[in-house]
Amino acid sequence: MSPTSILRIALPGPIRSLFDYLPPIDQGETLIPGIRLQVPFGRTSRCGVLIEIDTWSKLPAARLKRIESVIDRTPLLDEAHLAFLLWAANYYQHPLGDVVFHAFPVRLRKGQLPTSATAKGWRLTPAGAAVDPTLLHRAYRQAAILTRLKTHPEGLVQQQLIEQCGDCRPSLRSLREKQWIEPCEIGLAPTLAVDPAPSPVLSEAQSQAVNQVAEQFNRFKAFLLDGVTGSGKTEVYLNLIEQVLQQGQQVLVLVPEIGLTPQLVRRFEQRLGLTVTLLHSGLSDGERERAWLAAGRAEARLLVGTRSAIFTPMPRLGLIIVDEEHDLSYKQQEGFRYSARDLAVVRARRTGCPILLGSATPSLESLHNSQLSRYRRIPLLERVGKARLPKMEIIDIRSSRLEGGLSPVLISRINSGLRAGEQVMLFLNRRGYAPLVTCHACGWLSDCPRCDARMTLHLVSKLLWCHHCGHQQKIPSACPSCGSPDLRPLGQGTERLESALTRLFPDHSVARIDRDSTSRKGSLEKLLKEIRAGHHDLLIGTQMLAKGHHFPNVTLVGLLDVDQGLFGADYRAAERMAQLIIQVAGRAGRAEKPGRVLIQTRHPDHPLLQTLILRGYSTFAQDALAERQLASLPPFSYQALLRAESTRQEDPINFLTEAATAGRALQATDGLEFWGPVPAPMERRAGKIRAHLLVQVTDRAQLHRWLDQWTLRLAELPGASKVRWSLDVDPQEML
Ligand code: ADP
Ligand code: ZN
Ligand code: ZN
Repeated sequence: MSPTSILRIALPGPIRSLFDYLPPIDQGETLIPGIRLQVPFGRTSRCGVLIEIDTWSKLPAARLKRIESVIDRTPLLDEAHLAFLLWAANYYQHPLGDVVFHAFPVRLRKGQLPTSATAKGWRLTPAGAAVDPTLLHRAYRQAAILTRLKTHPEGLVQQQLIEQCGDCRPSLRSLREKQWIEPCEIGLAPTLAVDPAPSPVLSEAQSQAVNQVAEQFNRFKAFLLDGVTGSGKTEVYLNLIEQVLQQGQQVLVLVPEIGLTPQLVRRFEQRLGLTVTLLHSGLSDGERERAWLAAGRAEARLLVGTRSAIFTPMPRLGLIIVDEEHDLSYKQQEGFRYSARDLAVVRARRTGCPILLGSATPSLESLHNSQLSRYRRIPLLERVGKARLPKMEIIDIRSSRLEGGLSPVLISRINSGLRAGEQVMLFLNRRGYAPLVTCHACGWLSDCPRCDARMTLHLVSKLLWCHHCGHQQKIPSACPSCGSPDLRPLGQGTERLESALTRLFPDHSVARIDRDSTSRKGSLEKLLKEIRAGHHDLLIGTQMLAKGHHFPNVTLVGLLDVDQGLFGADYRAAERMAQLIIQVAGRAGRAEKPGRVLIQTRHPDHPLLQTLILRGYSTFAQDALAERQLASLPPFSYQALLRAESTRQEDPINFLTEAATAGRALQATDGLEFWGPVPAPMERRAGKIRAHLLVQVTDRAQLHRWLDQWTLRLAELPGASKVRWSLDVDPQEML
């Protein structure tokens, strides 16, 4: 390499362009794109990633600086993966530096060297495995260590134990003295060799699904596995994963945030007889890094992760599975606003491997793609075995007096269910005690001081709490406006439902599952275990309950409030509500006894609700797609949402008006439409005034050519410096 070559380097941050540097003078070896380098930046030094090497720079030679040092000899991201990240940055119009650094684990972003391949670790001895940790009440740390090691017979890295159990070195020493644990060396992806549990004999429909995908191994093909809950989709995944692993390739499985449950992981490990490498936000930085490196070196063969796992390098990738592909958690809603599901399809195409999107309630986008034959739809229409799908019924609550949000009909059905010894599950997608508090004397409302929203009453934590900006304050003892003590909660939240149920059914135990009741690590697991063991007859949950868990003893499900979904401001609201209803319903029922689902509504004649209940999700989806087509909405058109916010009232709209004018002046594009600028549905949030400008085009390629030019202009607009703006390509929520 000539010392006058130009190194084009990505640095983290909001700047869209790459930075030009000179190589070190004495650089003997060639520098390969994908390596990390330390470079001078202003008065500081930063870690950057080499993207390309060129022979010229726009900058005059005198202004070019030399890099300080080379961090990696061999790149941590290979060429193909780097190209994928470039594609993603381009598609989402997001700064490449930010995208590339997003792909790295935290420590590596800071220029540190990757964790070494093996580390000092600990595992249980047979004597230790026989100890019941719950009996060690006085040695709390030792018990915690034993509990962790029990679920990891292959051993755990000492550093990881310290990250999770606090500085536990003295406890480790004591355990070793008792000969309950022993030291071991642990690789990046420890392998657990257990005998795989035998696979059940696949049904005809399952075998066909497996065969269709297997025929396309080693080339790109997208499949939509459209199967009701309990139709055996996971069994299809497992079968395919097994085949791909046998060919020596890697598999990436993406799951929704709440879908990554210990039961799922256990099921995978038992059936496949190997350790699943996990990547999700609950891991420590060290654990994430080890998983990431193990995947990048093809040591981890099966990677199961949430959305950001899509950016993990996997050089021998042979299959991607996206479970519950309709789930909103695949879309990152801030910063780099990508859709992991959509990127997974792109990644499979670039890799040349099949991808399987699975769901009981496929997104309208994916159904549309299968109608266009871009994806091949594989239906699994029936539940495995004799299990029948639950029956759904509507309860008209227009003229009912509700008690704790429950209609008399629902209360009497709960009563008979409980008397028959069944578990009952109630779904209410609102945590806290009540969504607002009002003063009965003067009409004061618990408005958030920073948002156009109300603060939710949380009685358990004794707070008024805004769910939009996180603002919290003590519950006032009297009205802040008129001093009257007559403050009353309005509406229902899960805490209030819990107390109503305790009052109505004093002989039955209630379990509440929402973010508040499960915020402590391990508490969700504990609750779920108690539910499966039958300790609770009544279950209350938010959408956390709608995913991933199956409750075979629940035969009655009540949905307390579906109306907000029917009339949401967002055109996707109905699709979401339908998916939620079907997903919640899918948690219930078993072979001998099909579940019953009762839906309370004030709009019993709503056509979408009627279609969903009488004719099922797929008819509902067809109708919804027809409506979208008539209105030229996605997936029949393509959108990008430009958001702007500022502390000053007029700045966001001014900037967006300039943006629209600049956009109209660009080259004509078929069907280009601007909606707005308008104030955001919640105009003020966290003290900022927010506004939106929506752009819609009928052709995706045209949208992107147009966006390329538009984003360049946006940064130069006079109003740009007065706002914070961001572009959301294929927006999912108009918040
Ligand atoms: P889904 O992922 O579609 O919800 P699962 O794959 O979890 O469905 O299957 C539902 C239940 O049926 C599981 O308990 C699973 O072990 C069982 N199962 C799946 N396929 C078969 C089969 N071919 N024979 C027997 N049991 C099966
Ligand atoms: Zn008052
Ligand atoms: Zn707020």
